[in-house]
Amino acid sequence: MLLERSAGAVVFSIKYSGNVFFLLLRYSAGHWDFPKGNIEDGEDEVQAACREIREETGIENVVFLEGFNKKVEYNYRRHRNVIHKEVVFFLAKTDSQRVILSNEHIAYSWTDFDSALAKLTYMTAKDILVKAQDYLKSRYIK
Ligand code: ATP
Repeated sequence: MLLERSAGAVVFSIKYSGNVFFLLLRYSAGHWDFPKGNIEDGEDEVQAACREIREETGIENVVFLEGFNKKVEYNYRRHRNVIHKEVVFFLAKTDSQRVILSNEHIAYSWTDFDSALAKLTYMTAKDILVKAQDYLKSRYIK
């Protein structure tokens, strides 16, 4: 089995209303997920997540919230190979809501918690969103 390691982040922004919006991307395979991508040689997980956010959304100014670091694992098939994938997700705040998509994705959406939960395709991603929301409620949002 081949192993793939990616890093990404639950990117959120707080609008004037004080409400939190999460950034989701629609992958060309059809699923909705957070920005993420493969960790390259010489990079650590945070550097990879930062680069992927920049490349996939055009957003440069993100602040990673301390202590949020969640891993998901899944298997998928590419041609004849089964790939085992591990993805670590951070939680990142931005004040830039303007998104410039790369050609890896077909849509993006800034959505509130309930819509994001409904939109995310995979249970693992929904679980990360719930954990991010819990973190924000307990430690960040008044
Ligand atoms: P990246 O470079 O951002 O890691 P990718 O498009 O190469 O993205 P994935 O988003 O991991 O890779 O998608 C690869 C395959 O795995 C797709 O068929 C997708 O539907 C499936 N997949 C993605 N996320 C999950 C998940 N959480 N659980 C199960 N299958 C998933």
